[in-house]
Amino acid sequence: MRLSDRMNNRPKAKLKDVSVRRIWRLFHGYWGQLLAIIGLALVAAVIGLIPPLVMKEIIDKAIPQGSMRLLAVMALLMILLPVLSGVLGVWQNHLNTKVTQGVIRDLGQTLYHNLQRQSMAFFTDARSGEIVQRITGDVQAVQNVVTSLVVSSITQIVVVMTTVCILFALDWKLAIISMIILPLFVLPVKKVSKVRKQLRMETQKVRSDIASQLGESFGISGALLTRIFGRERQQEAEFTAMNQKVMDLELRLNLVGRWFGMATNTLGPLGTAIIYLYGGYSVVTGSMTLGAIVAFAAYQGRLYMPVGTLLNLQVELATALGVFQRIFEYQDMVPDVLEAPDARPLAQVAGRVTYKQVSFAYKPGQYALRDVTFDAQPGEMIALVGPSGAGKSTLIGMIARLYDPTAGVVEVDGVNVRDVQLASLRSQIAYVTQESFLFHATIGDNLRFAKADATLEEMEAACRQAYIHDFIVSLPEGYDTMVGERGHRLSGGERQRIAIARAILKRPRILILDEATSHLDSESESYVQVALEELMQGRTTLVIAHRLSTVLAADHILVIEAGSVVERGTHTELLAVGGLYARLYRTQFAKAVEV
Ligand code: ATP
Repeated sequence: MRLSDRMNNRPKAKLKDVSVRRIWRLFHGYWGQLLAIIGLALVAAVIGLIPPLVMKEIIDKAIPQGSMRLLAVMALLMILLPVLSGVLGVWQNHLNTKVTQGVIRDLGQTLYHNLQRQSMAFFTDARSGEIVQRITGDVQAVQNVVTSLVVSSITQIVVVMTTVCILFALDWKLAIISMIILPLFVLPVKKVSKVRKQLRMETQKVRSDIASQLGESFGISGALLTRIFGRERQQEAEFTAMNQKVMDLELRLNLVGRWFGMATNTLGPLGTAIIYLYGGYSVVTGSMTLGAIVAFAAYQGRLYMPVGTLLNLQVELATALGVFQRIFEYQDMVPDVLEAPDARPLAQVAGRVTYKQVSFAYKPGQYALRDVTFDAQPGEMIALVGPSGAGKSTLIGMIARLYDPTAGVVEVDGVNVRDVQLASLRSQIAYVTQESFLFHATIGDNLRFAKADATLEEMEAACRQAYIHDFIVSLPEGYDTMVGERGHRLSGGERQRIAIARAILKRPRILILDEATSHLDSESESYVQVALEELMQGRTTLVIAHRLSTVLAADHILVIEAGSVVERGTHTELLAVGGLYARLYRTQFAKAVEV
């Protein structure tokens, strides 16, 4: 997949309200600490105002009057004041970090929570690397801005305000002159912000692409595919291109920022030059003392520096808006499978499953299922057969509400699945997929995924039923054996039987089964088959059938074609009809007999 394709292929989400106000709302819950920071900043600002006055006293009084006592007091103040502001600084810094880390933690938490609420539709569209990047990389990327927002904005605003007051108190004319040049530096802010925001967004997008590429090419299946097709070089070239792009973008981002920083840094010398020019003239004409002009110039530094910092901060904030936009996109995603506010828990069901005129479209107008109606009595087995892409997987996903029908109703024991609490519904359903997924953990941990408090005895019983216990205990570490990424340290058949044991442990009333098409060796296959039969005992089962034994054992067979049920009945009835099923039987199932 090319870079541009990857970029276009990201999850859609509504984008609204990426404003500074929304960013401030992240600090909700930290107002107490923010107030403390403001208080500390105020005290520090007031302390910061004293040293120029000390200088003024030394130049205008202590030295001309030859007062050693005053000189000593002023010198002592010069030592004590920085110590005091240093101590306050440490305290303020601690509070800043606490607030920043709190906001970052909250952001990660809300993103994770919202991702867990998403339906399968989201995960089939999104790339896992992108998700990881947004929840870790993007959240980390805004950390600096969050810190600056707290530290810089509060502190600098306080410093600017107190300084402006004292400048006017010292000499209002000089104060106005020193502020005249400020608007010059505000002008480029908007342009610089826009450029940097665009660059930052692009950087984060490419980073997501890198994360996705890494996840895909170094995941087991991707790594295997890469080696089989000998695509290592191409993949490396793709990575190199993206890696280089990040570097280029970061360089441009930095350069734009540096130029702007340089421009604001010239603010100080320019202002000071004007003050000394005008102030020097006032001293010469005797309308101002030398101490006053030195103090004034010192205060002016306290004005220009924070103004420069604030302007930079505004640019940084605008730059980060692009990243916030990506974070808020994920925060605002509304899951398309939602639990009704008045949903009630579903009591233990007998296991009757009813589909009433169910239609479903992944995209508006493109129907994957049309008007599907059937009824499975408790304990019955319904086999679904049909050509590839007919809609079988889509159909079985609706019971556990992996997707919701676009039209029609799915009921369990006569209750619409949309009216009950998701957890209570899903706790009664087990789903054994074609490719059994195991987490990178021990066999025991994987089994406990179905039942967190399962005892060893329970696990062993389930594994015996799934014909995998003997194998597990033959391993040196038994149930504590790590299964490897996605369970790839085990064979396909072993993985499947562990997945079946996991489903048994759940004791579901309804079982959804997607039979593996991959041919295991006949010994494994027969083990899996017997394990599945054990699992189906007494449970309502919907199975996407690929084996002859399954269709023969089914109470009903639904033949699906292009999203519709085109034939239904038992194996013998359907063969007699001589339609699609009969054709499928000859091409698919009869072949299976030979195996
Ligand atoms: P197979 O036996 O090959 O697994 P299936 O009968 O299970 O096929 P489904 O996976 O249900 O078929 O797919 C039904 C149709 O919906 C197909 O045309 C498929 O391309 C389409 N489809 C499946 N998943 C999605 C998706 N996430 N987004 C859009 N279209 C999809």
